Amino acid sequence: RFITFEGPDGAGKTSVLSALIPIVEKHVAMPVTLTREPGGADISEKIRTLILDPANVAMDPRTEALLYAASRRQHLIEVIDPALAAGALVICDRFVDSSVAYQGGGRQIGEEAVLAMNHFATGGQGPELTVYLDIDSAAGLARIQAHQASRQYDRLDRESLAFHQRVRAAYLKLAKAEPARIKTVDASQPLEQVVAACAKVLAAHLGD
Ligand code: C5P
Ligand code: MG
Repeated sequence: RFITFEGPDGAGKTSVLSALIPIVEKHVAMPVTLTREPGGADISEKIRTLILDPANVAMDPRTEALLYAASRRQHLIEVIDPALAAGALVICDRFVDSSVAYQGGGRQIGEEAVLAMNHFATGGQGPELTVYLDIDSAAGLARIQAHQASRQYDRLDRESLAFHQRVRAAYLKLAKAEPARIKTVDASQPLEQVVAACAKVLAAHLGD
């Protein structure tokens, strides 16, 4: 079973997932594999470093989109597929929806082009459930700035509020288009409440 978590920068995916995984592990019988992208496999982590390197300011948006798709494919083949085949519940921090939002919306490549490119990378494979952690763009950016000291600086940290607003708009459009798969959680709430809301969504889905 394959579940993804999505959201704009500052939504708190990392903190939510680290609190949520032990709760999920207690409630499901199968092993739980938590992974993330870009990254999650050796080659994919190398691609992540390349994409996020602040020195690579000249990177073209389509180059970036291709690198995310390449990272995704390697991660799928090397980590996600084998875990699914072994009967695990795979929970992945970001997947194709991130590319639709960031490269399609944020970089304005367009959602269709990004979907087509990613279909080549994934063969159409994707999550049965996606939890979308939604937060207002200005609030998300404020959170990132508040945690600047403890965060590793990446190339995306230079993006404007308008960029982040396009990312969020693309996410909201996806959530509206696919309500059966994508469940939205209000990520502006205190962490414990966000975690509880996510646990509820997962329990409802896995209980069926
Ligand atoms: O989720 P995480 O913080 O690990 O993502 C790392 C960076 O990559 C973030 O700044 C995020 O905005 C960016 N990103 C992106 N396009 C994607 C996935 C992540 O720009 N498809
Ligand atoms: Mg981040």
